[in-house]
Amino acid sequence: MPVAQLDRVTGYEPVGRRFESCRARQFSYSASGDSKPICADQRQEKASGRKQIGRSEASSASGRPNPAGRASFIMSTDVLYMREALKEAHKAFEADEVPVGAIIVHKGRIIGRAHNQIKMLKDPTAHAEMIALTQAAAYLQNERLLDTTVYSTVEPCPMCAGAMVLGRVKKLVYGASDPKAGAAGSVLNIVDSSRLNHRIKIIKGLLREDCARLMREFFRIKRHCKKINATYDKSHRKK
Ligand SMILES: [Zn+2]
Repeated sequence: MPVAQLDRVTGYEPVGRRFESCRARQFSYSASGDSKPICADQRQEKASGRKQIGRSEASSASGRPNPAGRASFIMSTDVLYMREALKEAHKAFEADEVPVGAIIVHKGRIIGRAHNQIKMLKDPTAHAEMIALTQAAAYLQNERLLDTTVYSTVEPCPMCAGAMVLGRVKKLVYGASDPKAGAAGSVLNIVDSSRLNHRIKIIKGLLREDCARLMREFFRIKRHCKKINATYDKSHRKK
């Protein structure tokens, strides 16, 4: 793991949860045989109707706190989709990839889902968002991803943010901010820039703690392994 990447852990926000077994690029399809991808949460959403969660779950792109007493909520569907993105991030974690997951939704249907596969594919562009964008474009048979929402567990990097602008994504929802490389407001704002020809609505901080804790845990383990290896090398050099 490059040092620069290890250093990034210091910027991620704290706390998160659970791990589950998985397989890379897993993609589920509806049982109706229409070959369209669908997630379990959509069925759950239909059954339970739309619920609301408190403003502590997310903040607007402006970063301003919501005025006290004002009923400002986001719909639970965003939370459900972000949980799907988190599942992807856990897959990356188990595959020893930086744990980032992404989901793309179009008209209530998941049309792209992926996690980082940089090491596995030996491809610096194999970010979760990039792979999900490619899947979504293939599904829509169109390079323009109109009326789509990208859910990413971590703020997108400049490459992924640029790809989202090129794809004309409508909305971006992300969990943990990345103050070292984030291109949705932290370091740069490629996603919502008046200097570019397409602007994407941003919702940031959704399930932030869950997303950030996964990243922190991953890099904590990496640092620990690096330390053990260094100690081992040192003791062997003495002999
Ligand atoms: Zn990226």
